[in-house]
Amino acid sequence: MKYSAEEATASRDGWCYSFLLAALLAGCQTHPPLVDRAPLVELKQLEPDIHLDIRYATPNNFTGRPLYPKARALLLPEPAQALARVHSALKQKGYGILVYDAYRPWRVTRDLWDSASEADRANGYVADPAIGSRHNRGCAVDVGLYDLSTGREVPMPSEFDDFSIRAHADWTGGPVGPRQSRDELRRAMEPEGFNVLPNEWWHFNYRDCDQHPVLDVPIEGRMKNLP
Ligand SMILES: [Zn+2]
Repeated sequence: MKYSAEEATASRDGWCYSFLLAALLAGCQTHPPLVDRAPLVELKQLEPDIHLDIRYATPNNFTGRPLYPKARALLLPEPAQALARVHSALKQKGYGILVYDAYRPWRVTRDLWDSASEADRANGYVADPAIGSRHNRGCAVDVGLYDLSTGREVPMPSEFDDFSIRAHADWTGGPVGPRQSRDELRRAMEPEGFNVLPNEWWHFNYRDCDQHPVLDVPIEGRMKNLP
């Protein structure tokens, strides 16, 4: 791995120690080792037919305000290529991949935590910034489907970021059509190494995601593969 988690650990420790006096008064805020460089790949450059609906670049998310300055979907190279293969396979069935979120900078995870209710934190609907999320590691992706013939989003048992039981990947309620579409998505994702999160049908982690460092690369940053 090219990026140095050790350097970031040292920096974190320095940050904590240098604020020891304030920490004694207010408690030392901790965070995981943060890395500010990574070979992130832009999904639209890899596969232009993948559609984006990046909710955190709009007010249409549970915080009611945009958290990203740009609507971009970035992933580490391996999951990006795997997702492009999922998209190709789904095309045979009349579907395309619709991305709601991909790589998320650590600073945004901190903002989401600050915006969430105590109940949503306790239920695990937002990642604790003290640990970081798999989205921060560039190997988790939130996806749905769009209909190739109309370009429209395919109905699922719940909306993206619905924090109710309808969002559970194995929920058996509601109309059969949306559940079949949800299961179709999962069947396409799993052979390429993506595992669904049990309480979010749209969230998939790629293989050894936890082995990668937590990233805090700005979403608007210039990526290596951009002209
Ligand atoms: Zn997610």
